[in-house]
Amino acid sequence: MKRTFAVASGKGGAGKTTVAVGLALALADRGQSVRLLDCDVEEPNCHVQLGVSLTATEPATAPVPEVDTACCDGCGACAQACRFHSLAVVRKQVLVFPQLCHACGACLYACPQGAIREVPRRIGLVRQAEAESITLVDGLLDVGEAMASPLIRQVRQREAGTEVTILDGPPGTSCSLLAATGGADHVLLVAEATPFGLHDLALASEAVRLLGLPVSVVLNRCRGTAADAQAFLAERDLPLAGCLPEDRRVAECAARGGTPYREVPGFGAAMRDLLARLLGEAA
Ligand code: SF4
Ligand code: SF4
Repeated sequence: MKRTFAVASGKGGAGKTTVAVGLALALADRGQSVRLLDCDVEEPNCHVQLGVSLTATEPATAPVPEVDTACCDGCGACAQACRFHSLAVVRKQVLVFPQLCHACGACLYACPQGAIREVPRRIGLVRQAEAESITLVDGLLDVGEAMASPLIRQVRQREAGTEVTILDGPPGTSCSLLAATGGADHVLLVAEATPFGLHDLALASEAVRLLGLPVSVVLNRCRGTAADAQAFLAERDLPLAGCLPEDRRVAECAARGGTPYREVPGFGAAMRDLLARLLGEAA
């Protein structure tokens, strides 16, 4: 059975990528082929922890509207349909702001004259590399581009092909998070066991629950039992998938471009335990 696990966090620096790469390597150590999709398209860095170069690249595009002025009567229905203010109609002329466009296609359907067609606009790159039995795919947004969701959707088109897919989502609670986690079988939220970390976790868990997805939490950098953080999760009915202890070596290893799963004693075993729990193999 194919399964997709999304790893996300309410804020950057919580350890999300380290966990996503660790889970992918734990699967690879079982001899299992796995896809790791790095959907953190503003700053993809799974390849750094895997120590691979992303050589296979292809441009990524998003469809944006183009108006045939010969057919347009300036009715304004397209601008009314656009929830992202990417279109304006001024004196019967349609102005398109492509960099605000989310490529949702609503304007196309709203136009009574059939005056809109979609044209591709480059927004970044989709890149790929192989590492052990891991196929890594990531998206890299062009400098100055603001719309991550269309690129994330293109990265996720590469989801099929292996039994297990790990998605490394973007930090935060924007629509990029929803694009990266939507349709996953399970969302693992990584959060620091601190008041700020738990605040951001609450926001991210609410966003993911809007999608109706099963969710559990990894508390990172725990001191002791992190009893307060565990009580916070219990209050919000958030299942605990695991606690990773405070260990400076993990952050230092990741910061210098190393692979904590391989290089930090105990971290690989923690990831294998976490994987077993996610796969329902451990109590
Ligand atoms: S495709 Fe969607 S976001 Fe883009 S201009 Fe049309 S309605 Fe707006
Ligand atoms: S909905 Fe169509 S006809 Fe109306 S202003 Fe927009 S492009 Fe022109």
